[in-house]
Amino acid sequence: MNGVRPNILAMKGYVPGEQLNDPDIVKLNTNENPYPPSPRVFEAIRTALTADKLRKYPQPLGDTFRQAAGRVLGVEPDSILIGNGSDDILTILTRTFVPEGGRIVSPTPSYILYRSLAEIQGARFETIRFGEDWKRFSGPWPAPGANLAFLPNPNSPSGTMLPVPVVLKLAGDVNALVLDEAYADFADWNGLALLPRVPNLIVTRSFSKAYSLAGIRFGFAVADPAIVREIVKVKDSYNCDVLSLAAATAAVEDQDYFRGVKTKVLATRERMRRELGELGFEVTPSHANFLWCRRSDRPVKPVYEELKQRKILIRYMNYDGYDGLRISVGTDEEIDRLLAELNTIL
Ligand SMILES: *Cc1c(COP(=O)(O)O)cnc(C)c1O
Repeated sequence: MNGVRPNILAMKGYVPGEQLNDPDIVKLNTNENPYPPSPRVFEAIRTALTADKLRKYPQPLGDTFRQAAGRVLGVEPDSILIGNGSDDILTILTRTFVPEGGRIVSPTPSYILYRSLAEIQGARFETIRFGEDWKRFSGPWPAPGANLAFLPNPNSPSGTMLPVPVVLKLAGDVNALVLDEAYADFADWNGLALLPRVPNLIVTRSFSKAYSLAGIRFGFAVADPAIVREIVKVKDSYNCDVLSLAAATAAVEDQDYFRGVKTKVLATRERMRRELGELGFEVTPSHANFLWCRRSDRPVKPVYEELKQRKILIRYMNYDGYDGLRISVGTDEEIDRLLAELNTIL
């Protein structure tokens, strides 16, 4: 293709998880929340649906959202940058910190979008393998001097978290450290408390998982206001629309509802861990809303395929021969069906 940049021609492109439209399907493959968003979200969207609100541009920085989220999280509104999903934030951060020919580092096995972001930017992508327990790395980071590191915490596909000293060590090694906290709402701790003492840390959050709003597309970053003042120059002026801003503001304000959903998801996660273990899976203890499952006695790809034929969609992932199944936490009824089908398959 004439004129296309060579790095774009050379890249394969990120392939998102399958989104099948069959309503009968039990969808446990992309970590969406099985429960609906807060009723206040529906009300807020209805209220935003006026001719005047649709006719005008939305707030460029999402000030109403920033005030609400700032109150809930205990951070300054000026330290928040809004995004069209947290993937948008990851793109903005890449464009801000990484020059063409620069270096991005990330652990593996992890979120595969990071590689695509490096390829689009024309940057080098360097990985380091997690150790067996997912709590350290199997060797030294290739990090010193890297422009940017992406560290998902909890990690996908494992659901595990790195200890704080490992996070701090890495922050000291690179120009900017992005702690991708798409799943932190399900975990016992997160990186917000580290921000005051780690000036090059950027925490990113998503409304797609814990807040049940994957269809709305909303995420945000929290960082030192001095960093926010720079990254704001890179984002599209109106990267979040009036409906997503209304939805996200209502969702973050309804913390009672959020805690109720979280409690249910965590209870089902523990039930899945136990029962999948009894079926012979090696299940990694998870801090997120999914579980990483492997087997030493048989290949797992056929299990994914058999489940798909029975209208249960999970994720089969293969990282250079290290493979496994990533299963999202569903409702208890969905998990009943999953376990019943696994019983007949195995
Ligand atoms: C789902 C996910 C995201 C993207 O979230 P969106 O807000 O839907 O863009 C980012 N990082 C990780 C690790 C994820 O799993």
